[in-house]
Amino acid sequence: MTETLQNPLRPFGADSPIAHLLDLADQMGEPPTDQEQRDDAEVAAAHHVYNEFGFSLARVLDADDWTGYPAVSDHGTRWQASAVAWLDGGLWLHHTVRIPEVGPGSDILTLVVPCTCGRGYVDYGFKTEDDLLETFAELKATAGRSPHDDKHPLDCTSVTALTHTRSADV
Ligand SMILES: [Zn+2]
Repeated sequence: MTETLQNPLRPFGADSPIAHLLDLADQMGEPPTDQEQRDDAEVAAAHHVYNEFGFSLARVLDADDWTGYPAVSDHGTRWQASAVAWLDGGLWLHHTVRIPEVGPGSDILTLVVPCTCGRGYVDYGFKTEDDLLETFAELKATAGRSPHDDKHPLDCTSVTALTHTRSADV
């Protein structure tokens, strides 16, 4: 049976651009599904890395290395949709887009690094490739672990480490 016979009123293919555009128009106003949020989070992370970290992260991560997670509310805290990429050795990269009340969203990349004490993770925020490579230069002596700091013992068991746990458990 041909498609024409199945859909006599539709003069275009099921996978054609116009079919997708009509579907999109249909979905306008509907909240994005979890799967759409995951997909968007992966695409946003991959784009940001490709555009801003071409010398470093984009060389070692492919678009499909990112795993997206939908937005969730947890004990009154709202977490934006996010994506994580596994770097091996216990290290993760976490990406999300912070959306303010007004103005454009901003990309937030965080390097999640296991602490040398083995009890948790330390988050390293960074904005530029220089920041990131400086961090890796510091972590080299400890083979990619964050040196435990007894003066700031909360650093490696902080809330941000929970973000990682949540992401890894989903
Ligand atoms: Zn520690």
